[in-house]
Amino acid sequence: MKFSPEKPALTGETLDSLTARLQEQGEPVFRARQILEWVYKKRVTSWDDMTNLSKPLRTWLAETFDFMPATLVLNKHSEDVTDKLLLELRDQSLIETVIIRAPQDGVGIDHSRKTICISTQVGCAMGCVFCASGLAGLKRDLSAGEIVAQLLQVCRSEDARTPRARMELASFDNIVVMGMGEPLANYDALIRALTILNAEWGLGFGARRITISTSGLVPKILKLAEEPLGFRLAISLHGATDEVREQIMPINKAFPLAKLLPAVKTFSEKHGRMITLEFILIEDVNDSLEQAKLLRNIALDLHAHVNLIPYNTVEGLPWKRPSNTRQERFADVLRAARISVTLRREKGHDINAACGQLRLKTEKDRELAAV
Ligand code: SF4
Repeated sequence: MKFSPEKPALTGETLDSLTARLQEQGEPVFRARQILEWVYKKRVTSWDDMTNLSKPLRTWLAETFDFMPATLVLNKHSEDVTDKLLLELRDQSLIETVIIRAPQDGVGIDHSRKTICISTQVGCAMGCVFCASGLAGLKRDLSAGEIVAQLLQVCRSEDARTPRARMELASFDNIVVMGMGEPLANYDALIRALTILNAEWGLGFGARRITISTSGLVPKILKLAEEPLGFRLAISLHGATDEVREQIMPINKAFPLAKLLPAVKTFSEKHGRMITLEFILIEDVNDSLEQAKLLRNIALDLHAHVNLIPYNTVEGLPWKRPSNTRQERFADVLRAARISVTLRREKGHDINAACGQLRLKTEKDRELAAV
């Protein structure tokens, strides 16, 4: 499912593709690099700011490309230092990008870590039953330009927050592709966007600080294992047996654990990096000690880090967060086996931070306003 905008986004162009377009216009080879430097290094916000380009070239660029395909509609800052950017795309679709300044307060975790969480689709087709993003199904894939634009908007909003100190994207510790959508279902746009994010002519962010999180699209995990850039991988596991996983993640029918886990192992062996298993703890669904022990076995086999995320209640869904005691008991089973484990206290409750909730709320408000 694609959206065909009037003009392609400049933020979706690679150095090669932009060079080719400019050469067709009779421009020299170095011109593309000059333009990308204005966009990603100097972070200008209009074509006219590109002062070393001729006026006719700026006019051609404005007629040919969309400078910024995602407009900031709302920046919700929460007391616990999480920011949610709600962005509107050219077809009025809404997406969310989240800045988390202290994402993990589990045992021994540095509180100053800064993470950006980006989206790759509008909605999601995977239908995980606990997730706000998947409630209305998939609307469409994001283009590479729309994925990259989220990061430029983060830079701009951080610049606005601290006007004296210009924010460098490299000052963030991680970028996680964990927002709305299943990233590997939009594979080509994802890889193109991450290439732009990583390139020295782009945003220059190290591939090893970029984590792609998937619900378990096995063929795409194996394809990702072959990519030259060594991105990190996180698996949304959420169930340590097929029986439990299937209850909450329909994808498990197509790719049960017997297929998923060997694919994850292949990825991890190929890249020599520890992968992360994400596990949302939901009361009376997957928070038993039995599940903890089975998760422990999986994590030991994969040499994986485990990220436990107590469920964040979503309006209209019946699932509940287990008590703190139950959460700790679950985590203790993993800790006792010396597994690297984070028990993440969700950030951003007061800004609808559970993935997809801010977008849903804004869409609902818009519908009401239209009545
Ligand atoms: S949890 Fe992720 S994969 Fe599952 S429906 Fe939500 S966005 Fe999609």
